[in-house]
Amino acid sequence: MQIYADNAGTTKMSRTAIDAMLPYMETYYGNPSSLHTVGQEAAEALAQARAEMAAILGCEPREIIFTSGGSEADNQAIFSAAAIGEKKGKKHIISTAFEHHAVLHTLKRLEKQGFDITLLDVHENGLVTPEQVRDAIREDTCLVTIMYVNNEIGTIQPIREIGAVCREKGVLFHTDAVQAVGHIPVNVKDDNVDMLSLSGHKFRGPKGIGALYVRKGIILTNLIEGGAQERGKRAGTENIPAIMSMVAALKEAVDHMDENTKKVQALRDKLIAGLAEIPHCALNGDATHRHPGNVNFCFEGIEGESLLLLLDAKGICASSGSACTSGSLDPSHVLLAIGRVHDVAHGSLRLSLNEENTEAEVDYMLEEIPKVVEYLRNMSPVWKDLINGKRQFIL
Ligand SMILES: *Cc1c(COP(=O)(O)O)cnc(C)c1O
Repeated sequence: MQIYADNAGTTKMSRTAIDAMLPYMETYYGNPSSLHTVGQEAAEALAQARAEMAAILGCEPREIIFTSGGSEADNQAIFSAAAIGEKKGKKHIISTAFEHHAVLHTLKRLEKQGFDITLLDVHENGLVTPEQVRDAIREDTCLVTIMYVNNEIGTIQPIREIGAVCREKGVLFHTDAVQAVGHIPVNVKDDNVDMLSLSGHKFRGPKGIGALYVRKGIILTNLIEGGAQERGKRAGTENIPAIMSMVAALKEAVDHMDENTKKVQALRDKLIAGLAEIPHCALNGDATHRHPGNVNFCFEGIEGESLLLLLDAKGICASSGSACTSGSLDPSHVLLAIGRVHDVAHGSLRLSLNEENTEAEVDYMLEEIPKVVEYLRNMSPVWKDLINGKRQFIL
């Protein structure tokens, strides 16, 4: 059995998304900037895709900029808000300690350029509150950027309420909604956001394509100079096959959101309940304000990387926030942000489900994961110390 439970890492493209791509490679392959018929067919398709995405997000088509993905959208949103702030002498930005690196590393660069960055603490349950944002806003704050759904622990932030605080205070608000769009209802107007990032491959569209919603009136800074594509804000011939495919995937995800959520959430809750039976473990992130497919646990006395390798050998594709992905020995910054100590944070496991997963797969994981955890604990010197009382259990 091969189980793919890493859908927060990336997804398998849906049939609909693949099919939506092909005509724009074979038949309508034109460059939308060309004046001839073949080019204009592509331009029309692009306009339609933009209109469809805008309708889904609740904005105007001209408020959508297609990008190469979530990372580019995050970079462009943050650098743009910083440039706008700098002109007014406002160089303070508020974010959180558990953002994606596309946000955190962009903020690091701005810090080197003289910006003052406040990273809000995240509560133990993986949530930040509108009150924290209100308390952190200063006269010189030019941007608040807070992710919609955390990619590791799946917690859903009170974006609408945070957005309302930012509106009241007249501060730009950006949200990295890469894990939210296509999974939970998102509407840029209702959510009071000024800028929003999304990415195709997190909702069964292709990799290397995404979008940035920018409320009209906000002037973007270009990351790429060149032609006049994307209203002059993102040069380069548009990736029409990927854009058509991403919008088809988004439409499909939104059309089936209710049934998918119901199905996936039931699988998630069964998996959470079953894994919680393992001694000395803890669920990371709030149980209710949670992405429908996200399961994330810490198991005391083991290393997440060893767990992943053994699970892979059993056909289970999972993820851990720690070392192996980053090539460093640091545990996940997300788990540290919610207050997990280093030792415990190292023993983490993320299983992220979607509508392709089945109950039989959940049953198989519930059979195999406890065995693998026990096996690793029996080999672990740390575990020996814990059960001999030489070390205190934390979980
Ligand atoms: C995946 C992800 C990104 C990066 O998106 P790419 O399209 O891979 O660049 C950014 N933020 C979050 C929360 C993500 O999960």
